[in-house]
Amino acid sequence: TPTTPHTAAPTAERTLVLVKPDGVRRGLSGEVLRRIEAKGYRLAAVQLVHATPELLTQHYAEHAGKPFFGSLVEFMLSGPTLAVVAEGVRVIEGFRSLAGATDPTTAAPGTIRGDLGRAWDGAVMQNIVHGSDSPESAAREIGLWFPGL
Ligand code: GDP
Ligand code: MG
Repeated sequence: TPTTPHTAAPTAERTLVLVKPDGVRRGLSGEVLRRIEAKGYRLAAVQLVHATPELLTQHYAEHAGKPFFGSLVEFMLSGPTLAVVAEGVRVIEGFRSLAGATDPTTAAPGTIRGDLGRAWDGAVMQNIVHGSDSPESAAREIGLWFPGL
C-alpha cells in the first residue's frame, strides 16, 4: 500500500527545556512544567542542576565569541537550572512556540517569555527558558544535560 505524507502517523520527538536560573529563582519552575504538560507533552526527565562552566561552554558553543557570551555564562552560573526532557509530537518546534521570542520585551503575550519574562538585568537577557532549536540540537543538548539518558 502506498503511503501518503498526510496520513502518516506523526512520531513523538524529544527536546531539552531549561528553566534558567531567573525562572527557578522567581519560583516559575512549576508554571513552566504546567504549560508543557497542559499542552499534552510528557515529561521524560526532570532534574535540578547547578551548571558548570564546562557544561555551559558546550551548551552555548554556537554563541562563543559573541559580546554577550561571558555575561550569559555568568548568569547561567548564578543559581540552579531545572533541566527537562519533554516528549511529544513536534515538541521541538512546539516548545519554541510556547516559549516565544528570545527578547521578552517583544515576545507575544500568551508565551512563557511574553507573559513572564522581564527583559534585561544589566548586560544579561533574562528570558526564563531555553528550548532546543532542531532535532540535532535536541540530541546534542539532551546528551550534555542528561548523560546516559
Ligand atoms: P534562544 O534560542 O531563543 O534562547 O536564543 P539564542 O540561541 O539566540 O540565544 C541564547 C540565549 O542568549 C538567549 O536565550 C538569551 O538568554 C541570550 N541572548 C541572546 N541574544 C542576546 C543578546 O543580544 N544579548 C544578551 N545579553 N543576551 C542574549
Ligand atoms: Mg538558541
